[in-house]
Order: sequence, then structure tokens, then C-alpha cells
Amino acid sequence: MSRYAYVNGRYLPLRDAKVHVEDRGYQFADGVYEVCEVRGGRLIDERRHIERLQRSLEEIRIPLPMSTKALGVILREVVARNRIGYGIVYLQINRGVARRDHAFPSPAVAPSVVVTARPLNKARNEALAKNGIAVIGVPDNRWGRVDIKTVGLLPNVLARQTAIDQGARDAWFVDAGGYVTEASSANAWIVTKDGTLVTRRADHAILRGITRTVVFDEVKGQQGLRIEERSFTLEEAYAAREAFITSASQIVLPVVRIDGRTVGDGKPGPVATALRQEFYRYAEAG
Ligand code: PMP
Repeated sequence: MSRYAYVNGRYLPLRDAKVHVEDRGYQFADGVYEVCEVRGGRLIDERRHIERLQRSLEEIRIPLPMSTKALGVILREVVARNRIGYGIVYLQINRGVARRDHAFPSPAVAPSVVVTARPLNKARNEALAKNGIAVIGVPDNRWGRVDIKTVGLLPNVLARQTAIDQGARDAWFVDAGGYVTEASSANAWIVTKDGTLVTRRADHAILRGITRTVVFDEVKGQQGLRIEERSFTLEEAYAAREAFITSASQIVLPVVRIDGRTVGDGKPGPVATALRQEFYRYAEAG
């Protein structure tokens, strides 16, 4: 099936969807992005993703190039044109096109806007969740503002490839103090021996995941679950009862091995499984 993209005001077949070589997103990773899950053709948690986008843009001083309502229309149009039932929609906004110079273009140029969408394989994702994944710890060598969702993802790319090269599925970044920050494209969680959910505080060292936020709401809605926002080490994670990661494209994905050590009994645990199953009772479908 042909795929379509939105590029700066036009809907184009993917093969014709191109950006300028002097786009600052291309030359400096001077841009931000969002990824939203699509389920039953509907955007999941659009409002929160757009709010986070606005925050990312503000932090790097790119003006919102159109109303959030207009952005929503484009997202939906790209989902519809690509006939996505289950998948993801990707939105990127860059500072724009200008002769290569580190400083912001002066006068300012129009930001670039690109939207693409693609289907995800539901059976494959469900199988992953049923078996759980292996992760490895890698040093967190990223810049100090990874709370901003910028397209500058080279450390994340290298971390993911290192994990794959070692037979794992993903990497958990570990900061200089020995504490886990997050996964290469997801937030990291453990469930301790006494049943407490632990995930790192959302400061400048992690991205405040939308899925993470929804899981907080889920936990509040479920009896008997405790949650602590604090740092944890890899050693604590090895000894945890359960571990999992959260992201828009995988929701709640159990982690069953960390650095070759089995977590819990080596199978997805009941807390992660329940959070995954109940997720859509707490997410917003638009
Ligand atoms: N951390 C990083 C580094 C990510 O790239 C992502 C996925 N975009 C997340 C966390 C999870 O965020 P979300 O739940 O909003 O997808």
C-alpha cells in the first residue's frame, strides 16, 4: 500500500516527501518530535503529546508554526491517508531552512513540519510482551536536557545497536552515579520485592513519558499498588521482582533479563501484565 507524508503544507506520496538539505533538523538536529500511538484508527493521548511538544518547542525557542487544532487535523489526515488502524504517527518540527550557521536564522524562518505514519504489527508486539525482553546497561552519555524531545538521538541509536549486538532488545542508560535513567526510547521501571513500583523522578535526566504519566494514573486507580519516584541502580533492578519499560509504541513491555541476569522468575510479572492490559482504561482516545 502506498504511504503518504505531510511536508510543509502538502500531503505527498512518501517517495516524493523530501526536505531541503539546509533544513536545520538535518544539519544540527535542531528540532523536536512526538510519536503517538494509533489504535482503532484513533490517536492515543493526543492532548498530552501535543502539550509535551509545545513544551519541547518552548525550551528550544521554536515558535509553534500553527494552532494545536490545525496540527491535530494534519495528524488525523496522515493517519487516514495511510489507513492506519494500529500503528504510530510521527510529527517533527525543525527550526527551518537557512544557510548553515549555528546561530538561529535572523530574521527567523518558518519552522519545517513533517508528519508520517506507519502500521505496527500487533501480533509481533503481543508476542514480545508475552515473552518479555532482555536489556543491557550502558553508560548514559547524553546531554543534560533529555527532558526535551529533540531529534538528536545519536546516543540512543548507538545504545540500541549495542544492545542488539549483544543479543538484547534494548539498553538502559546508567548515569555517572550508577543509577538507571531510562531506556533508549522508553522509561524504565522496576517492582521491588515488597511490591512497590519504582521509576525515576522526571527531572532533566529523563523524558517525561506520556505512557509513564498514564501508568501513574493507573496505579492510583488500582488498590494496593504503591509507587515511588526515585532513582534505582542496576543491582536493585537485578534483584527486583519485575521490571518493565513504557513507551507510546509498546505501552508496557516486560523486561525479563538485565545484563544476562534473570529478573524474578524470568517471565513477565503480574504487575506489568495487569498495567498493560488495563492501560486503555486510563489513556485518552481521541
Ligand atoms: N524516553 C525516551 C528517551 C523516549 O524516546 C521515549 C519514547 N518517545 C520515552 C522515554 C517514552 O515516552 P512516551 O511514553 O511518551 O512514548
